[in-house]
Amino acid sequence: METEYIKLDSASPDPEVIGRAGDILKRGGLVAFPTETVYGLGGDALNTEAARKIYEAKGRPSNNPLIVHIADMEHLEAIAAEIPEKARKLAAVWWPGPLTMIFNKKDIVPDATSGGLPTVAVRMPNHPIALELIRAAGGYIAAPSANTSGRPSPTIAEHVREDLDGKIDMILDGGEVRIGLESTIVDFTDEIPMLLRPGYINMEKLEEILGEVLIDPAILDENASRNIRPKAPGMMYRHYAPKAQLTIVEGGEKEVVDRILELAAQSSREGKSVGIIAADETAEFYKDYDVKNIGSRETDKEIARRLFRVLREFDDEGTDVILSESFETPRMGQAIMNRLLKAAGHRVICV
Ligand code: AMP
Ligand code: MG
Repeated sequence: METEYIKLDSASPDPEVIGRAGDILKRGGLVAFPTETVYGLGGDALNTEAARKIYEAKGRPSNNPLIVHIADMEHLEAIAAEIPEKARKLAAVWWPGPLTMIFNKKDIVPDATSGGLPTVAVRMPNHPIALELIRAAGGYIAAPSANTSGRPSPTIAEHVREDLDGKIDMILDGGEVRIGLESTIVDFTDEIPMLLRPGYINMEKLEEILGEVLIDPAILDENASRNIRPKAPGMMYRHYAPKAQLTIVEGGEKEVVDRILELAAQSSREGKSVGIIAADETAEFYKDYDVKNIGSRETDKEIARRLFRVLREFDDEGTDVILSESFETPRMGQAIMNRLLKAAGHRVICV
């Protein structure tokens, strides 16, 4: 299949292109598009065949459900069986935005989309291209991240092309995404809401609106897949993994720098190419190596936005060994470290 690649103005996307992309989706085809979190691989969420194609293009296990993207609140009523008051309050603040909510589903949502679960994940993305496309496609787009399953999620359209060229109908290029990590997922199927995946909207922000919020214990357990079954099936899989062996070094600033330099020297002596991921504050200490400055700890938004991109850059360079600092920043630290730890297969050295 030939994949059509089209650049679009994010602020005011060309209606002719959006119309054509919408028609592809209505016919059961696949279109990748930008959202504010990461690029999504879209298919008609109410079409079993389209959902099947998404799993196939990504190489994603079919029991890992897809998030349904909507553009208008009425469309939530059509697919969710009950919508608790707390969910409505959260939506009023954060939709459109980087928030996915889980509800019991109505029958209209096919099992293929929900991965066989009786529930459905729903999000209203905050991006003009995404919102226009959802409307043009009839209201419901199932869209997992537009990467090959297991690879870092795409934050620019070029990443989508690397993974999915020839496998999908169209890629809409709207430039680099704003957030760079996938949405915060909150489950509303029990009395007390539960965080299933950390994201831009952190626990503090959720609690401000919801009061008590539980955390899926699987998020906090480094052996999640072995010990506790996460409620979001996707959290179980090895994910975001670069081709290189990635190790995180955690501890006080000086100790971390010293240990990373020591490990880098050792790998270099063994003839391996070494890459280092460091914050702006410490990047200069590693200047003898291929160091990527991921951004300042003070404004961790940049660290979040650049994380997946930096992992892919090391892949492109054929790096053998990546050593990364740890980024437990107060705002997005939980989301950043959730992705980085998975990418590292939980290989962490504490100093
Ligand atoms: P992605 O679309 O690649 O960001 O992945 C979607 C994430 O949402 C995966 O971790 C899924 O397992 C999770 N998810 C989707 N639908 C549900 C659901 N009904 N219940 C729990 N988790 C879900
Ligand atoms: Mg994904």
